[in-house]
Amino acid sequence: MTQTAYQTKAAIIDALGGITDPRKNTSLLDAHMVEEVSVDGGNVKIVIAFEDDRPKNERWDLEDKIHDVVQTIQGIADISIVGMTQTALREGPRQAPAPAPAAKHDHAHDHGHGHSHGNAQNAAGGTGQSKALEGVGKVIAVASGKGGVGKSTVAVNLALALHKNGYKVGLLDIDVYGPSLPTLLGVKGRPAVKDRRIVPLEAEGLRIMSLGFLMDDDTPVIWRGPIVSGIIRQFLHDVDWSGLDYLIIDLPPGTGDAQLSLAQSVPLDGAVVVTTPSELSLIDAARGLQMFKTLKVEVLGIVENMSYYLHPGSNEKVYIFGQGTVQREAKRLGTEYLGDIPLDPAVRLGGDTGKPIVAADAKSPVTEAFIKLAQRIAELQPTGAAAGDAKPKRRGLFSFLKG
Ligand code: ADP
Repeated sequence: MTQTAYQTKAAIIDALGGITDPRKNTSLLDAHMVEEVSVDGGNVKIVIAFEDDRPKNERWDLEDKIHDVVQTIQGIADISIVGMTQTALREGPRQAPAPAPAAKHDHAHDHGHGHSHGNAQNAAGGTGQSKALEGVGKVIAVASGKGGVGKSTVAVNLALALHKNGYKVGLLDIDVYGPSLPTLLGVKGRPAVKDRRIVPLEAEGLRIMSLGFLMDDDTPVIWRGPIVSGIIRQFLHDVDWSGLDYLIIDLPPGTGDAQLSLAQSVPLDGAVVVTTPSELSLIDAARGLQMFKTLKVEVLGIVENMSYYLHPGSNEKVYIFGQGTVQREAKRLGTEYLGDIPLDPAVRLGGDTGKPIVAADAKSPVTEAFIKLAQRIAELQPTGAAAGDAKPKRRGLFSFLKG
């Protein structure tokens, strides 16, 4: 049986999790040394981040070990292992963002001299260290296996609903190929830099950051790929997010390097997977779920978007893409069904005009659905005042009688 690229990648990540870094005495994944894993047909590229002072022979030993383990995985024809120093990774984005040619792992090489691992000059990325975000309560990723299911719409409206429920919320869009946050919230402008930190922009009470604020729409896509992990780390650690209860991260669709970079850049408190009821979207959602499991990120559950259309005349629910499929799939996958968001043309309109539905229409059934979703997320991952259950509860009308 042939494996899909995704299965191969999952198998590689699994294998890397089984290799111990002798220096840190923990797995390469837990040591946050895996910078990138990409699979293209039978060709595999793995980028490993090393401390600057790690001696070459130690690096090579580890690269050899990786090569030996990975080559046993079915369907792999060629393995490139690129060892990078953290300084080179950090400095990468400031240099010309050209794709990094991978050094080939060649076992015929004489490791004593001229070993070609590592292309420190060209590759770009972060520091290889996962660090908690200071002053941020919970970091929640919103993901989908497939594009077009409403992931960004859910991310922005969930953030707004959390804000409405009384939390301080930030929203980070790390979709480097199609940043949608500037359009969804109708915000343009360049973030300022203060005390060597990037100050997020603000909209509708949210602190927001997106590559769309830094790059022009016509920046060639080829420039974006190699800088993904560097940008992600910068957006997490060089942006002033302090004072937030929740940071919601809008991921690119699929199971690519952005997901891997994110999971290695910051401890994630949970992931929410968005799907529509259609079969295709569900298959990809299951893949997304599996990826988070592999990356050891807790999946909080699945949100069903565009689940039904509320007929404006009769108020009848019309299930256009099927009914009950997402609930069944959530059960099968052993994850929570977090609720449904109706299909409503006002949602699209809100997205196009920079006024998302939760901000535009407090009474819409869609807004109600997002408020409920936000409540559930806050229950699953309590933070701020709610963490100590001290969130001000509205007192009942006659509560004063109870003394
Ligand atoms: P993704 O981030 O998954 O690519 P988007 O959030 O960009 O998807 O949504 C894709 C399109 O579907 C957008 O035009 C958006 O306005 C629309 N959309 C998303 N959710 C809904 C909904 N519940 N009802 C109506 N339109 C929706």
